[in-house]
Amino acid sequence: MLQKYSFVRTQDVHKLQREISTFIHLIRHVKSTDVFDPDVYLNPDFATKVKRRHKGAPVKIFTLLNDFFNKYKALGVRKVKVFNAFVRMNDVQNLFDKRTVRITIDNIPPQIQKETLDLFYFLYENTLTDYNIHKHYEDFYTAQGNNWCPFCGMEKLLHFTHQKQDYDHLLPKSKYPFAAINMRNLAPMGHNCNSVYKKTKDLIWDDKKQIKAVNPYNKKINVKLDFTNTTLPKRGDDKGVWDIKFLPDCDEVKRWKFVYCISDRIVKDYLAGKASDYQSWLDLYLGFVQSRTDLKTLKQVRTSFIDFGSQFDNHRYRECNYLKADLFKWIGSNAPDIFIKSFMDTINNVKVKL
Ligand SMILES: [Zn+2]
Repeated sequence: MLQKYSFVRTQDVHKLQREISTFIHLIRHVKSTDVFDPDVYLNPDFATKVKRRHKGAPVKIFTLLNDFFNKYKALGVRKVKVFNAFVRMNDVQNLFDKRTVRITIDNIPPQIQKETLDLFYFLYENTLTDYNIHKHYEDFYTAQGNNWCPFCGMEKLLHFTHQKQDYDHLLPKSKYPFAAINMRNLAPMGHNCNSVYKKTKDLIWDDKKQIKAVNPYNKKINVKLDFTNTTLPKRGDDKGVWDIKFLPDCDEVKRWKFVYCISDRIVKDYLAGKASDYQSWLDLYLGFVQSRTDLKTLKQVRTSFIDFGSQFDNHRYRECNYLKADLFKWIGSNAPDIFIKSFMDTINNVKVKL
């Protein structure tokens, strides 16, 4: 992603994953005649929670673990497929790096798919809160360098005193349920990126093959925007054609751009239309050079556009500054002379018919 997240390690919220991992390991070789017993197959703390009764009946987590256990023990030699799927789905970083072969819910025996989804959806939706995920968000928020969504650089994460930000399953829980409560797979994400654009898209699968993708806890990508086939709209005019290439042209960048609809968001939210941000940035540029009396040649004006763009590199992944930086540097280097001249004339207050 555009910025790397600091991973917050020392929180209760990680404990639930460890509890479930212990359960999966302890039931690994159960026989078809074995019976689910929390005291045998769970850590003591977790067993106590699971053994509670509500109005005389077992709590739901007991029922879900019991159902999973019963389907699992009946799988015979295919038990190993479930165990391996648990291990592989939780090998999050190697999946992102394409060093582990992707495995999904479709690869485990059909008899246990429903019980798997029911159990892990419940753990995520109902149980993670008991492990203080709200405190986790407070610590997470405080540990980051800034509060901009690193998936787009266009929106902010919510302050923890207002609301816990949505946590996205980087690997969606519908396909990788065993990783549903693994905090290595859960990342706070801006609301738009999470709920409007990414939804359940799979970062490591492009509908045909497994691909490398960027995990924000481990890596960031340095993207550069190129506008070579763009026809720039003039100031106060929306006629133009925006064509943006994202470099480097690699799987990680392509997938990021697709999953978060980056190109379309940039054009529609910032560049297109008479009242676009792009138009306001052109006015900001004129403010930037207004006291300059030395912009008498196209080359000098071009350099001033590059200088204007370069200042946005200081905080490149806030406020969509990577777009502003690369666009104005590109304008300075590549915009047609007629475009540059119109600004030179405006700067020097010369009315010339173009
Ligand atoms: Zn975002």
